[in-house]
Amino acid sequence: MKSKKGVLVIVSGPSGSGKGTVVAELVKEDNFFFFISATTRKPRNYEVDGEHYFFKTEEEFKKMIENNELLEWANFCGNFYGTPISYVKQKLDEGKNVILEIEVVGALKVKEIYNDCILIFLIPPNITELSRRLANRGTEDEETIKKRINRAVEEIEIAPKYDYVVVNEVVEQAKTDIKTIVSAELMRYHRLKETIDLFTYKGEN
Ligand code: 5GP
Repeated sequence: MKSKKGVLVIVSGPSGSGKGTVVAELVKEDNFFFFISATTRKPRNYEVDGEHYFFKTEEEFKKMIENNELLEWANFCGNFYGTPISYVKQKLDEGKNVILEIEVVGALKVKEIYNDCILIFLIPPNITELSRRLANRGTEDEETIKKRINRAVEEIEIAPKYDYVVVNEVVEQAKTDIKTIVSAELMRYHRLKETIDLFTYKGEN
């Protein structure tokens, strides 16, 4: 027996942890739904507006904050990022598992609002591998890489606030690990309580 409602899954992890790749693999599966974030960061050459992010000017982003269009937002290494979600509840009720791939400050804000969301922290096997992945992907200049490595260390210090840690050495395994976590979470008592209560329902007198 599994809950018919989906769960809200938040995946965080330092730049270079490979979370983008792992999440992209997960959302190929039917029952995972990905919310696209808004950002003021400049698009990388392969990125498409409305597919990877909604790319905004700082002015547009601040308007979204003023109009309460964002569930959460944060400044990461000098750029704004935020989650424009108005229909997360609808997706969860439809039985979709909703995935947000966001940094730690935003993740903890979402946890305050959706207490039963699952926080998953993705890490690379070691710091050398993290630096190597960041340098090799060639999407950031040296200054940005330095900022992101420093931020990575700060983010890892927040990992104890997460529910699970997944080591991303092999993408396929990390994906399986996250699916296993979600599967187990869907069998938690509080998510099945309504169904279980039906067994003992005696009707109204
Ligand atoms: P990148 O520039 O590498 O695409 O993303 C930088 C960081 O911002 C990553 O840790 C990513 O998970 C995070 N991020 C992406 N979208 C959001 C969002 O909507 N809210 C928050 N708080 N962080 C986000």
